[in-house]
Amino acid sequence: MYLADTLSRAYLPNSEQSPTEKEVESIHMLEDIAVSQKTLALIRIETQQDESLQAVKGLILEGWPEDKSRLPPGTSPYFDIRDELTYDEGIIFRGQRCVIPVKVRPRVKQRLHSAHTGIQATLARARECVFWPGMTSDLTDYLSHCEVCATFAPKQRSEPLINHDLPKRPWQKLGIDLFELNNKNYVCVVDYFSDYFEVLPLPHKKDTRAVVRRLKSIFAYPKSNGKAESAVKIAKGLLRKTTEAQEDFQLALLNWRNTPTAGLDSSPAQRLYGRRTRTLVPTASKLLIPRTQNRVVAKKAEKQKKQKQYYDKSTKELPPLKRGDIVRVQPQSNAQSKRWHKARVEKQVDSRSYLVRSENGNIVRRNRKHLRTCSSTFSDQSDIFSTPTSVTREQPEPSTSEAKRSDTNSPDHVAKSPRREANNDIREPQLAEETHEPPRPARRSTRARHPPARRAAN
Ligand SMILES: [Zn+2]
Repeated sequence: MYLADTLSRAYLPNSEQSPTEKEVESIHMLEDIAVSQKTLALIRIETQQDESLQAVKGLILEGWPEDKSRLPPGTSPYFDIRDELTYDEGIIFRGQRCVIPVKVRPRVKQRLHSAHTGIQATLARARECVFWPGMTSDLTDYLSHCEVCATFAPKQRSEPLINHDLPKRPWQKLGIDLFELNNKNYVCVVDYFSDYFEVLPLPHKKDTRAVVRRLKSIFAYPKSNGKAESAVKIAKGLLRKTTEAQEDFQLALLNWRNTPTAGLDSSPAQRLYGRRTRTLVPTASKLLIPRTQNRVVAKKAEKQKKQKQYYDKSTKELPPLKRGDIVRVQPQSNAQSKRWHKARVEKQVDSRSYLVRSENGNIVRRNRKHLRTCSSTFSDQSDIFSTPTSVTREQPEPSTSEAKRSDTNSPDHVAKSPRREANNDIREPQLAEETHEPPRPARRSTRARHPPARRAAN
């Protein structure tokens, strides 16, 4: 064929590369790697100074021994990848990746992490252009010591849900919460068994005594938690809507209490009173006859289990912390600064709650989720047992499980933030004392909490 004939005559007279061709090839090799000329020069010098790399160079040029035991010292980490290793212009390559001598590694690590990307991103970038034995663990360690990343870390994943114990009868276990709507203050008390809740307006000046007086009109010191939070959410919704529609809030509440709860086949009123209550909706008198609600606990437990399964899909259990562990504390949701400040664990106060001491000496109580372990050093050398200067309560944030629940009008509110649940009780009398601070704006996070002293009597 004509074409083939032409080509067959156009073969290169010899396969030897001209100096220019050689240069072009080696420039390509070096240009492919994302390392600056200055660093390359440094790598070249340090490769020459590095004993094990010089030995590796020798092996590349002269051939590797069959047996690993006959390797020169310091070269065994390279044995398994010997087929990928090349030597070019004073630099050893693993494929396209530059092998970094020991002395240049700190500089390269710093360059690789200059954008303060996470471990996976930093490793991905490293694996594109550089190599040294143990690079992954080296970089992981380097990142774990990065103060900048520790200070501005993302939130940790939520921990699996801790379900509350289901009460066996009405008013056995209560949740309470305060809330503010349109410049008015309210207290909301919810019964765990029936989901029935009361909403009471508070006097305009809200101080602790007013709240306690109001509470005593219903019950003694119940505790706050996710259950109360969800009742507050419903109460707020009803208040907003009835105000907007200029309807009666109490009537709306009455209707809500008589609405069957999804998955339970009974309404809060039925669970609390054993019967439906009269509403403005025409109801046959037969339906108003008391009838004990069976299997409420079993049905609730079933529902709780499902909610936990669903919730736990996106969660991760965090290992417990020990006293003396150095941690970074997540900034509170309302904080201006997004810095995770350093602290030392003083004491575990609940399954997921810890007292931590900041470097300025302040003791704060935080949930495990808001504490990230870190390998930083801690500058405060004060005695770990010394008295805390002040104790700040944790600022609650919107609970994930609450946010996930689609139907906020649903009367069932078993799921709640595991953090709140874990933080409900202050079991240490000592801490309870410390949290009795001067009256502050009544927020959930800051109010004094009382041990449920009279709950046993209920
Ligand atoms: Zn960093």
